Amino acid sequence: MDFRKPLIAGNWKMFKTPAEAVETAKQIVALASATTDVDVMIAPPFTALTPVAEVVKNSHVSLGAQNLFWENEGAYTGEISPSMLKASGCDYVIIGHSERRQHFGETDENINKKIRAAIKNDLIPVVCVGETESERESEETFSVLDKQVRTGLEGFGPNDLETLVMAYEPVWAIGTGKTATTNQAQEVHQFLRALIGKSFGNVLAKSLIILYGGSVKPNNVKELMGMPDVDGALVGGASLDPETFGKIFLFQN
Ligand code: PEP
Repeated sequence: MDFRKPLIAGNWKMFKTPAEAVETAKQIVALASATTDVDVMIAPPFTALTPVAEVVKNSHVSLGAQNLFWENEGAYTGEISPSMLKASGCDYVIIGHSERRQHFGETDENINKKIRAAIKNDLIPVVCVGETESERESEETFSVLDKQVRTGLEGFGPNDLETLVMAYEPVWAIGTGKTATTNQAQEVHQFLRALIGKSFGNVLAKSLIILYGGSVKPNNVKELMGMPDVDGALVGGASLDPETFGKIFLFQN
């Protein structure tokens, strides 16, 4: 198997003022200086991006945003463009998080436009997919994921997707304390990698980073990372506390 460097990403959601974010980021940078074996990314709210960019500059912690709009400028009150994110120091952007799908009506078609805009502006898209609890119970997990991936990535070629990161986030595991079992996570990650292989070729499938997200904590990260197709984690709640997040990316429990 090709080497895929693990990526541990923290999604801070709608938490932390700029001052709080700077303080947390400083502690994360200090903890992350202990390793180069793993890439670390943090995604603060938009209002904290610029000051946090100063903190992570010259460290190997990268900055990400939690969302973007697909146009670079225009009369789109309240939206933030890819070029603004790039100019604020972002390298990554999370796209299609289930909270955006659920609360803000984000569709696979919107997500497709956002992925295109991210790539065009040299931002690494972290594209989230995942099934709800009722979809899992009615055995629709794979058909739901198939649609999310096919529609989200429609019209792209393998060269466009060289930097793509996928995050499998079962909706029933986000912020609930429930985690997919390692076998459930592996089964879906393997399915996603095979789907990317079928659609875009094996070279991309082999190099694709697929994160698991859903109540990742210091005590379950190692076991999840032990699965062959789990390449990292997208961490919500547990990334807000630098010590806890540090234990996750240093794989200490
Ligand atoms: C997330 O927000 O992407 C997430 C996985 O949240 P949590 O770790 O809190 O479940």
